[in-house]
Amino acid sequence: MQHEVPSAGATDNNNTHTDQQAQMQQNMIEQQQQQQQQTMLPQRSTVSKGKYSLHDFQIMRTLGTGSFGRVHLVRSVHNGRYYAIKVLKKAQVVRMKQIEHTNDERRMLKLVEHPFLIRMWGTFQDSLNLFMVMDYIEGGELFSLLRKSQRFPNPVAKFYAAEVTLALEYLHSHNIIYRDLKPENILLDRNGHIKITDFGFAKEVETVTWTLCGTPDYIAPEVIATKPYNKSVDWWSLGILIFEMLAGYTPFYDTTPMKTYEKILHGNVVYPSFFHPDVVDLLAKLITADLTRRIGNLQSGAGDIKAHPWFSEVVWEKLVAKDIETPYEPPITAGVGDTSLFDQYPEDHLDYGIQTDDPFGEYFLDF
Ligand code: AMP
Repeated sequence: MQHEVPSAGATDNNNTHTDQQAQMQQNMIEQQQQQQQQTMLPQRSTVSKGKYSLHDFQIMRTLGTGSFGRVHLVRSVHNGRYYAIKVLKKAQVVRMKQIEHTNDERRMLKLVEHPFLIRMWGTFQDSLNLFMVMDYIEGGELFSLLRKSQRFPNPVAKFYAAEVTLALEYLHSHNIIYRDLKPENILLDRNGHIKITDFGFAKEVETVTWTLCGTPDYIAPEVIATKPYNKSVDWWSLGILIFEMLAGYTPFYDTTPMKTYEKILHGNVVYPSFFHPDVVDLLAKLITADLTRRIGNLQSGAGDIKAHPWFSEVVWEKLVAKDIETPYEPPITAGVGDTSLFDQYPEDHLDYGIQTDDPFGEYFLDF
């Protein structure tokens, strides 16, 4: 689902088109390598320090998979409550050059506290794996709901977009860029409010950064062009998200990431005729390559987005208090711990908790 190419780290404002092509090619190669490596994951484990350990949980089915591991539903053996545990394989994280991102993810998750962001309770590790204990969000991915619905009516898209806007505003106010906004990373709680998960690319930055990361359809042009970029990449992605919720497809969709990147750099967006003029106006201001004109990156920051006519009926204070009826309540029929809203994944044989050499432990001292 994710890919990443560390850039050379230079402020390459003079990047030529050839440089961009080379970067894109490199990106494709890395993606292919990731896919290959994903099919030959090693596994094992042991118990270590910290408040939690593997013995505290009964591991149940897989809820989702990422590039470096999987997320399980688990049940506390102490209080019987359900949680989600994200398991990352240290060897895989190291091989994919994700040590810093993984430590960042842990640090960010520990730091953030917002109604629309996933809450993490703690972390631990064994010889071969890293574990992050989070609240279990039962309603499944917004992605699944969107694919089932094909597209959302204007008010429904607006509701989710408004909650996402508040979450991003909160992150940016803490100097955190999220960098991987997409419907797969937006979960729905049992009442239908959003929870953004997967902070694997979240980064604390005062000013600008350079790393090429994200998901092809959602990446801003300045990221593809390996230019220095700031928080406003998230506002670009918000534009893509709103477009996808309303249209059922992303504006720069193509058959390969490379073709998608080319379209993004070209920047031509065709708005379906059924889009409301207000949303076309907002999207044109979000999906703009010119950072001096991109809404969210202007004088009032997120305030400009919240004040846009498309959001005119949103009562932001009520929304953040979850004091607004949600457009869809996930049908959680089997009670607490129901997983019917999550896709099925082939279950790996679990090698968690096995005591063996730990060549990578030194990289993950915070876990
Ligand atoms: P991630 O690797 O963090 O993107 O997680 C992969 C997938 O696991 C997500 O897309 C969700 O489907 C699922 N998932 C992650 N975190 C949770 C959670 N806290 N509760 C329920 N499902 C989750």
